[in-house]
Amino acid sequence: MHAIVLREFGPPENLKWEEVPTPQPGAGEVLVRVGAVSIDLFQMVFRSGRGMPHVKLPRIMGNGIAGTIAELGSNADGVKTGERVVINNNLSCGNCRYCRAGRETLCLYLNNHTAMIGAHLDGGYAEYVCVPARNCVPLPAEVTFEQACLIPNTIGPVVKACSGRAGIHAGENVLIIGAGGGMGLHAIQAARACGGRVIAAIRSNKTAAAAREAGADVVFSTQEHDTVQFVKGVTDGLGADVVLDFVAQRDTLPPSINALAPGGRLVIMGYFPKGGVLETPTWVFIEEITVTGNRSAGRQDIADTVALIRQGRIKPVISRVFPLKEAVAAHRAFEVGEIVGRAVLVC
Ligand SMILES: [Zn+2]
Repeated sequence: MHAIVLREFGPPENLKWEEVPTPQPGAGEVLVRVGAVSIDLFQMVFRSGRGMPHVKLPRIMGNGIAGTIAELGSNADGVKTGERVVINNNLSCGNCRYCRAGRETLCLYLNNHTAMIGAHLDGGYAEYVCVPARNCVPLPAEVTFEQACLIPNTIGPVVKACSGRAGIHAGENVLIIGAGGGMGLHAIQAARACGGRVIAAIRSNKTAAAAREAGADVVFSTQEHDTVQFVKGVTDGLGADVVLDFVAQRDTLPPSINALAPGGRLVIMGYFPKGGVLETPTWVFIEEITVTGNRSAGRQDIADTVALIRQGRIKPVISRVFPLKEAVAAHRAFEVGEIVGRAVLVC
């Protein structure tokens, strides 16, 4: 088969189109004919060597995968050949205390950093990929592979953040920091699907139209307005019930927490530097503030997201589609900021 192989961490040009052996599914695994695979920030971080420099190369990257089951390994239960699926990329153990409690993204096995398809194991930048049968989530005919490949890394995590971590109720004010980015544009839709009123904070007005199109009720630029003042101004002085911070840096986190209403929840969705300090203008205990984080999506989050897309309540934002062979061009386009929403590779 053909695949894009990374032999050395570095720039996009290190992604090489090669002929490699087609993998064979082992026990409990299936061979998937890749339909589409997503391009997102994790791919840039991994390829450059900034994310997981300890991972052994060569590696076939790609961990937002949708395709068709082509072949079953022994004991591959609950799936069938020809079935359209989207792949959960985390190999959680299913048996630890977190998996038992339905919080598989906190799986103790994952914490050993040995278990992500497309990073520690070969992924979807290829014509075929082998994955565990239990990582396959069925895909109805109404959801395309291009749409579905955005679910594992982009749309699934924001659906989990909105309905799970933040628990957005109908009518609540939801401030989204980084609303113009690939995660943010889908978070706008996910928060609306929960019944939230979305206040979208963007840095540059370049993404204002996309944020409005995604359904934001209010859009403002953080270069033109003070975030806390602006949010209080459009929430009767109360602040936001929920803040989703996708930037999560020293310049966004203080306004994120200070823009919360009493009883508010802040969900951190970025790699906030360790050792950072969050200062609040009041006592967290008096206002019963919640500060939490949101890791990747679990299998049920992926299935829930498939349903939301099928129902038309979330529309995946895809601005560019590249053939797999042109992975270098796709990575370059992402890195120079040419992509609104997401780009995908198709086989
Ligand atoms: Zn586990």
